[in-house]
Amino acid sequence: MVRQQDVKNPGRLKALERFEILYTADFNPNTLNLVSYRKDVKKEYLGTYLVSLCKYFYERESQEKSPSNENVSHALNPVTAKKSAAIIHRCKHCFTIYDEALGEVENNVAAGTPFINLPQTYQCQLCEAGKEDFQPLDQNSLKQVGS
Ligand SMILES: [Zn+2]
Repeated sequence: MVRQQDVKNPGRLKALERFEILYTADFNPNTLNLVSYRKDVKKEYLGTYLVSLCKYFYERESQEKSPSNENVSHALNPVTAKKSAAIIHRCKHCFTIYDEALGEVENNVAAGTPFINLPQTYQCQLCEAGKEDFQPLDQNSLKQVGS
């Protein structure tokens, strides 16, 4: 929420209205605990601060939930997303690894995207070999439980 602060010298500073941005503690709409986010905000910066507060809010939200679900859903095809033991695939030419747990953020592949759900156009990051040149690695030795 935004509330207008009292202006100390209303006559002189009328043009310099200042605003205070507050949010409810823990972003819980049921609490009356207001936390001040920014004070003495000039009107022209109000939007900027509100945007950054929104980002802050969504960052908090995404940290509380499991980080992947929303981003992955568009890439997942539930029919083909069969659970497989091997979550790491390796390029047979240059041994570049695709780790499902990490995805490839730089290629818009969200973390948690199974190899099988990668587009057919997927290429090795290093040598540009096709998807078919990747081979599953046996992960039993260094099995990770998703943390
Ligand atoms: Zn390669």
